[in-house]
Amino acid sequence: TTDIYYDDDADVSTLDDDTVAVLGYGSQGHAHALNLHESGVDVVVGLRENSSSRSAAEADGLTVTTPADAVSQASYVSVLVPDTVQPAVYENAIEPNLEAGDTLQFAHGLNIHYNQIQPPEGVDVTMVAPKSPGHLVRRNYENDEGTPGLLAIYQNESGDAPERALAYAKGIGCTRAGVIETTFREEVESDLFGEQAVLCGGVTSLVKHGYETLVDAGYSPEIAYFECLNELKLIVDLMYEGGHAEMWDSVSDTAEYGGLSRGDRIVDETVRENMEETLEEIQNGEFTREWILENQSGRPSYTQLRQAEKNHEIEEVGERLRDLFAWAEESSENESAEAAE
Ligand code: NDP
Ligand code: MG
Ligand code: MG
Repeated sequence: TTDIYYDDDADVSTLDDDTVAVLGYGSQGHAHALNLHESGVDVVVGLRENSSSRSAAEADGLTVTTPADAVSQASYVSVLVPDTVQPAVYENAIEPNLEAGDTLQFAHGLNIHYNQIQPPEGVDVTMVAPKSPGHLVRRNYENDEGTPGLLAIYQNESGDAPERALAYAKGIGCTRAGVIETTFREEVESDLFGEQAVLCGGVTSLVKHGYETLVDAGYSPEIAYFECLNELKLIVDLMYEGGHAEMWDSVSDTAEYGGLSRGDRIVDETVRENMEETLEEIQNGEFTREWILENQSGRPSYTQLRQAEKNHEIEEVGERLRDLFAWAEESSENESAEAAE
């Protein structure tokens, strides 16, 4: 079984002699920097000269300097700029200022796993990845709650990489909830697969197909929206609380029989084969190569796909309905949370 680490397995004072450079002050960066700071760790935030995040970090009482300077001051470097800019930040600001014995820490393994960043010998390379958006990592910490996280060691040159990474995980509040040990490969590949096949790609596609099937058959867009999108939250909440069992227990017998007898017809073996193909493209690096090229050429397909998704009728119907119904007020909080990511 998988090892899970809690507060008793970690000691923040392991980092007493360290200065942690947090590069980036966005979703994860602000949460890690503030939580570590309040856990008693020396933190310096690294931001580029005219960074839009600078005033926020300074207003929060943190020391801010350039990424290069932060790395030279620090013995523990947490890379929390967007994944797509990490290779350039590594080349320009991190690599020239890294010293043997330093730790290079990530919250996602993409650039290490796909060799976009190749750290030198003599440096520990670790991952502490909260399984949550940064604003929740921060909010949970403030409420004396934890955020579950993943921990992985890619290079352990000092011999102390696991203890040091656990100390970091405790400092940001992850060991309060539990930290699962994994590898860079497993974290990256499962994360990409989950977001493509199920969480972000699969579910939106399922919703759109359901919506279009009803609307094309003459049902009203509003009804189709409620059935295929809005109610999804209620179903997912039940799954989150108690797995599929709790969901099946809570719906009517008609819904349970209909779902159990028809579900595998909708998401059938073909979908399973498509999932396997999608996983293969992740494993053999094809997806990541495509994404790197996409970024290098100014994101032409990404821009087009984004626009098409925005233009889908379900978005306009949803916007109208959310304005008319009570849950719209609740969703304004979600929106500001999203904006913080
Ligand atoms: P963000 O997009 O929120 O990071 C933005 C920060 O990076 C800002 O402070 C921005 O400052 C700075 N930044 C952007 N470009 C540059 C640059 N070229 N040079 C220096 N600083 C720059 O990142 P996330 O927090 O979303 O992601 C950070 C890491 O955490 C990633 O590895 C991600 O995969 C991982 N992660 C993210 C999660 C999430 O929910 N967001 C969840 C778990 C892991 P500026 O004003 O200068 O642009
Ligand atoms: Mg992801
Ligand atoms: Mg119903």
